[in-house]
Amino acid sequence: MDLSYTPEQLAFRAEVRAFLAEKLPPRLAEKGRLGKRLTKADHEEWHAILNARGWLAGNWPVEFGGAGWNAVERHIFEEETTRAHAPRIVPFGVAMLGPVLQKFGSKEQIEHFLPRILNGEHWWCQGYSEPGAGSDLASVKTTAVRDGDSYIVNGQKTWTTLGQHANWIFCLVRTSTEGKPQEGISFLLIDMETPGVTVRPIVLLDGEPEVNEVFFDDVRVPAENLVGEENKGWTYAKYLLTHERTNIAGVGFANAALENLARIAALECAGGRPLAEEPLFAAKMAELEIQLMAMATTNLRVIARAAAGQAPGAESSMLKIKGTVIRQEINALTRTAVGPYAAPFPSELLDEGANAEPVGPDYALPATRQYFNNRKLSIYGGSNEVQRAIIGKALLDL
Ligand SMILES: Cc1cc2nc3c(=O)[nH]c(=O)nc-3n(C[C@H](O)[C@H](O)[C@H](O)COP(=O)(O)OP(=O)(O)OC[C@H]3O[C@@H](n4cnc5c(N)ncnc54)[C@H](O)[C@@H]3O)c2cc1C
Repeated sequence: MDLSYTPEQLAFRAEVRAFLAEKLPPRLAEKGRLGKRLTKADHEEWHAILNARGWLAGNWPVEFGGAGWNAVERHIFEEETTRAHAPRIVPFGVAMLGPVLQKFGSKEQIEHFLPRILNGEHWWCQGYSEPGAGSDLASVKTTAVRDGDSYIVNGQKTWTTLGQHANWIFCLVRTSTEGKPQEGISFLLIDMETPGVTVRPIVLLDGEPEVNEVFFDDVRVPAENLVGEENKGWTYAKYLLTHERTNIAGVGFANAALENLARIAALECAGGRPLAEEPLFAAKMAELEIQLMAMATTNLRVIARAAAGQAPGAESSMLKIKGTVIRQEINALTRTAVGPYAAPFPSELLDEGANAEPVGPDYALPATRQYFNNRKLSIYGGSNEVQRAIIGKALLDL
């Protein structure tokens, strides 16, 4: 297998780098580098810049307004944008719903929704999980009952990431209780400004209201917002999840986090010498670097196979587990490295323009927040325990 880049791919990398040097606002890159809080407006600003270049939806075919990149080009783009500390593209519209509409949506849905994902008019969120239906998604209970030209929706979703910014939500809803649970689920698009929709924040370990509960109380949804056929939503939901799990390894993010740790370890001292030279600490860093290099190689193998048109199998579960565990370990070591400065956790200093004095060096500021926030990595997108069960079945025949 050849894992080296072709001259065309190297030229593409140079093009992405030049674009970032010219168009990524230094203000946003600085926020990313220092782990500061990104606002809705920050995300929208970056999306608009990418959209103007035709690069917001790298994974979409050109006919739908995307860039039409293959897996290798997407990987290069991801590597360069994380290296430059650009905001990540909010995935719900671009990476999740877009591909589902392109494959299963009606002509009207494609023409109406896709351009609005690209121009930022619609900010989507994902209404899959419910209390009692997370790993076991087939247990969703939120009901959608047909009433003339509408569905009447009642129920509750939970863990809805960035739902506080969203004006649309794609939901799995129960339209039938007959047969197997999977056979009574439909995929519905809901305008969150419809009467009866309530969004309530959930504050996570890091103190951030990043996720929400969303309640539906007799919400009237036009029947034309049903994607595909009634009771066939499970198929579309699974298709979406294959897109949700692409790039779940997060090699670029792990690289950036490790670089940050190396910078800190060169500055922080223990026993009169930099942490980077302290044998125990240096060994831990080396171990993480080796694991990351091994994972990056596996990631490239999967990407090379995807570019050749083969679907990834249980490797994506391996990458999910390894990638998330490595990032959590880097976060933990970073907290150790900043020592006592990890203890104060002045959340307001993560905002742009905060004028209070930080307690420690700037690099210490986000260490605790990232540590707590990234506890989620091993849960969302399919928990690591469930990924292990997939590997057990698919690779070990258990
Ligand atoms: C920060 C965050 C953001 C999220 N964002 C969204 C979002 O935007 N939209 C959305 O729809 N959902 C979202 N989720 C939900 C996420 O997908 C679920 O939390 C996840 O699927 C796990 O489901 P659960 O929380 O119901 O846990 P459960 O499924 O109840 O699992 C509880 C524990 O049991 C384990 N377990 C469950 N089944 C098995 C099994 N078969 N074998 C072994 N162990 C098992 C799990 O791994 C876990 O440790 C988010 C979650 C988090 C934490």
